[in-house]
Amino acid sequence: MADDGVQATADTAMARARAAQEAWAARSVASRVRKLKAAGEAILGGAETLAEILVEETGKPLGEAYAGDIVGVGDLFTYWCGHGATHLGPRKARIPALDMPGKKGRVEREPVGVVAVISPWNYPVALPMRVMVPALLAGNAVVFKPSEITPRCGVWLAERLQEHLGEVVQVLEGDGAMGAALVEAGADLIHFTGSTATGAKVAARGAALGIPVEMELGGKDPAIVLDDAMLDRTARGIAWGVVHNAGQDCASIERVLVHADVADRFLPLLVEAMNATADQVPELVTARQKAIVVAQIEDAIAQGGRVLCGGLPEGDAPVGPTLFTDLPRDAAMWREESFGPVAVVEVCADDEALLEAANDCTYGLGASVWSGDVPRACALGKRVRSGMLWINNHAFTGAVPDLPWVGRGGSGHGITSSPEALLHLTRPRVVVLDKAKAPEPWWYPYGPSLEGLMRAVVTRQRSGGLMATLSTLRALMARNKTLSGR
Ligand code: NDP
Repeated sequence: MADDGVQATADTAMARARAAQEAWAARSVASRVRKLKAAGEAILGGAETLAEILVEETGKPLGEAYAGDIVGVGDLFTYWCGHGATHLGPRKARIPALDMPGKKGRVEREPVGVVAVISPWNYPVALPMRVMVPALLAGNAVVFKPSEITPRCGVWLAERLQEHLGEVVQVLEGDGAMGAALVEAGADLIHFTGSTATGAKVAARGAALGIPVEMELGGKDPAIVLDDAMLDRTARGIAWGVVHNAGQDCASIERVLVHADVADRFLPLLVEAMNATADQVPELVTARQKAIVVAQIEDAIAQGGRVLCGGLPEGDAPVGPTLFTDLPRDAAMWREESFGPVAVVEVCADDEALLEAANDCTYGLGASVWSGDVPRACALGKRVRSGMLWINNHAFTGAVPDLPWVGRGGSGHGITSSPEALLHLTRPRVVVLDKAKAPEPWWYPYGPSLEGLMRAVVTRQRSGGLMATLSTLRALMARNKTLSGR
């Protein structure tokens, strides 16, 4: 439980967001688009400053700060400001004309209210923006809690949004206690991105408070290399998948599963590609994270694992690109999320063995299959328990706003990006207009004419056809006679 001061701060932000939300939602979608476009231009206009803050707070290489965080934000605004109105538009409902005459229905999408956005430090710009832009477009307010490790990125973004959107965006600085206070503050939806352990706490509290929680959690993605893969491209792609952002990516490759028939030729290429990244991998963002990765490496060595490249860093050196093989499946590096530039390699006899290895995991975020035979790769990949399947690539789709980012199992069930994300960022409002003048056939008085009509309807549902429709019409006329007292 957060202390009173922290809780009061979270409650005040929630109250401000709630007070501003109604007027924001009352604007037309076009008006919200105009405001968001202006905020997007301000963010991209300040890209140099934002990139500097990102590099200072996370130690990412500048190119990666742009590629992993900033460029995708430009695409986000273009996508949602261009297509959002279509996705938010009403859906015409099909109401059976014969049984329920004179009625028209539609399903509109309403904002849920205030969305609490709790974000981690690994992509401190891209991750919260992927939630906040569609949430705001849909007419919600947001209260945003960035990680204590990257507060300046969070505040800078929130300030740009506030300049154009006002109090409908609130930001809360602080550590995990502030996150917990935000959970207590009574949002209408919590969108949590972070570790599986913290996500479980947030989900439990959300359930107790009756607040839905979208959870985007950790991962331990497999990359499956089939015997007909393009070996050179696959080696370079997997090396990137393991090492980018120093492996601090929920969908980084942490298990490389290689078909035995190609292992001798593929593994030297993979080691070469991993070693080529060595001078580009920054230090892990926190000492705590480094301690977790180093402990996994020590455990792998103790369990008899064979180092293919990298290994235990010397002294204060950063963790370098590292591959272990011949590891028992109960080793920490096999089972637990590493969140560092390290991966396990396992050579498997055939496709079924590759599949078994891929599915021997509690997480289920992404998976990739690398092969020259796309139908074979798809057939195998769809049997892997994951939310996302990439053929001959890995993870880059986080930057594509039209594709949902989604997991299963220990990776959470949340959806970020795409029209599918609007299903939880909004709620359906059913609107039905009735032009019927007569009493409805299912109203009182009950009796044989109602029973006859219902039987005719069921017969029509079962067999269809002209005769059944005519029978229904006859039963309907008899029913109307009863209702009108004639
Ligand atoms: P944490 O779970 O430690 O933190 C995530 C956020 O929750 C931070 O803002 C944190 O604040 C806050 N928080 C901490 N304690 C609580 C609490 N009790 N109640 C509410 N909020 C709290 O994750 P990390 O920051 O270490 O991020 C790394 C994890 O995120 C990895 O497991 C990674 O896989 C996952 N992740 C998942 C993604 C996905 O889309 N599936 C994407 C990116 C990362 P503070 O940092 O200030 O303590």
